[in-house]
Amino acid sequence: MKQTAQVDGKAVLPTILKWPDPVLLKKSAPVKEVTDEIRALAEGMTSAMLAAPGIGLAAPQVGVSLRLVVVYPAGSEIEYMGIAPITLVNPVITETAGEDIGAESCLSVPGVYYDVPRPTWLKVKYTSLDGAAKELQANGRLARCVAHEVDHLDGVIFWDHLPRLKRDWLKLKFKSKRGW
Ligand code: ZN
Repeated sequence: MKQTAQVDGKAVLPTILKWPDPVLLKKSAPVKEVTDEIRALAEGMTSAMLAAPGIGLAAPQVGVSLRLVVVYPAGSEIEYMGIAPITLVNPVITETAGEDIGAESCLSVPGVYYDVPRPTWLKVKYTSLDGAAKELQANGRLARCVAHEVDHLDGVIFWDHLPRLKRDWLKLKFKSKRGW
């Protein structure tokens, strides 16, 4: 996998793909087993997320169509609790509550921001990098971040939650920023 690629003995960060790369538009496959290769993928993704800088990254964003995301929203309860970035393998959001409208952006759609509705609270089941079944309850920014990243595993970009006219306008805006 290219996430472990090295050049002159130095690890190369995975490239973050931009919309409309086809891998961003399709449903990702479950991770069958948490292997060293998967751990290396998560490590590369975490480094790329922190370097961007971003607060979350999904495997399809680095060209790997597998159900794995990393999250680390600064200013959320994760940071206050002093927890390192979290990797969620095969995450499934099992419960949600409330709705909050807040600005979002995406490393695959750089420079575009828009208000998106998300649950204020959610519960997500996932497998950790040591293969254990886990559950996380998230509020606020962390909930928004998890919902955004899990969406990527189903080929969903944040603007897909908006009415068509707004979505089309954001796509045009992004295209013009990219000089298309
Ligand atoms: Zn995104």
